[in-house]
Amino acid sequence: MPQQQEQQPYTPIKDIGEFGLIGHLRGVLGESEDDSILAGISDDAAVYRIDDERVHVLTTDAMIEGIHFDRTFMPMEHLGFKAISINVSDIVAMNATPRYATVTLGVPQQVPVEALGQLYEGIKQACRAYGMTVVGGDTTAAHQFTISVSVVGEAQEDAIVYRRGAQPGDVLCVTGDLGASFAGLKALVENRERLDEEGEESFQPNLDRFSYVIQRHLAPPAQLKAIRDWAEHDLKPHALIDISDGLASEVNHICEASGVGALVHEAKLPLAQETMDAAQHFGEEVDVYALFGGEDYELLFALPEEELDKLSDLPSDAFFVVGRVTEKDEGVLIEQSSGETVPLRPGGFDHFQPGEANGGLGA
Ligand SMILES: [Mg+2]
Repeated sequence: MPQQQEQQPYTPIKDIGEFGLIGHLRGVLGESEDDSILAGISDDAAVYRIDDERVHVLTTDAMIEGIHFDRTFMPMEHLGFKAISINVSDIVAMNATPRYATVTLGVPQQVPVEALGQLYEGIKQACRAYGMTVVGGDTTAAHQFTISVSVVGEAQEDAIVYRRGAQPGDVLCVTGDLGASFAGLKALVENRERLDEEGEESFQPNLDRFSYVIQRHLAPPAQLKAIRDWAEHDLKPHALIDISDGLASEVNHICEASGVGALVHEAKLPLAQETMDAAQHFGEEVDVYALFGGEDYELLFALPEEELDKLSDLPSDAFFVVGRVTEKDEGVLIEQSSGETVPLRPGGFDHFQPGEANGGLGA
C-alpha cells in the first residue's frame, strides 16, 4: 500500500503575481557575496565590473506564443525584430550600449524553415539598427513558439544609471509618446476577431487607419538614440528605466528603488493622434492606455530641471516632462485632467493575473 503523502503547501502563482514571484525566487537564491556585481535582479539589467573602469550589462527576455504574441497577426520578421528590441531596451535603460546577443528558439513542428528565415531577417535588421552581433543560441522543439534572447552591453562604470538615483525636485521625463503599442494590439485583436467572424474569403483587413500604433506594437524601436544624445550633451540622468509595463508601473519602480515620491500630470502625457483615435474607436480612456498599456519601450528618466538646458537643441519631440520627483511621504500621485490628484498605482499588466495578455515578463 502506498504511503500516504503529507499534503505540501501550495500557492498559486496568481496569488503573489509576477513581482511577488521574482521576489520569492530571489529569496531562494539568496544574496550574492560577489562584489563585482553592481546591480542584480533589482534593475532593468544586471551590471558587473570587468575591470577598474568598465562594466558589462546583461539581460534576458523571452516571448511566448499565446502570452506575448499571436502568430496570426505577428509577422515572423517583426517578431525577430521585437525580441531583440525589448532586450536592447533593458540595456539602454542602464545607459549602456548593446553589443552581443544569443537567441534561443522553441519551435513547433509545423513551422517551416522559411518562417524561421524571416524571423532571422528581423533579428538581422534589429542587430544592424543597434550595432550588435548574434553570437550564438539554441534551437529546440516546443509546443508553443518561443523566442528567448539574451543581450550583453558595455559601458564605463561611471556612466551607468540605476533606478535608484532619483532625488526630490528632479523632473520626470519620457522619450516619446505612450499607449501606442496597446492601441496597436487592440486594433490587431479586433481585426483577428473580425477575420474569425467573417471568414477568410470575404474579410477585408481594416488596419491602415491604425498603421502607426500597429507598427509600434509589432516592431517597437529601443531608445538607443536617446542615450547617445545624452552622452553627446554630457548628460547623465539620476534615474532611468524603460517603459515595458506601463508608465504607472515604472514610476512606482523608480520611486520604490530611490525612496522618493512623485507627482505625474495626466495632461502632460505625450499621446499620438492615432492612439487617441484608437481609444475613441474602442470607447476607452486614452490615459489608461498611456499609464497601464505597456510595451511602449520608451525611457522614463529623472534629472535636475536645470540639466534640461543641455538638451535644448534637440527636436521638441526628443523628450517630454511628465511630472516631478517629490519626498517619499508625499506618495506616488497623479494629477488627473479633471484637476483631482489621486494615488498612481502600478496596475500594469501581470501575466499571472487574469486579463488581456500583453507585455514582457521580467525587468
Ligand atoms: Mg525594463
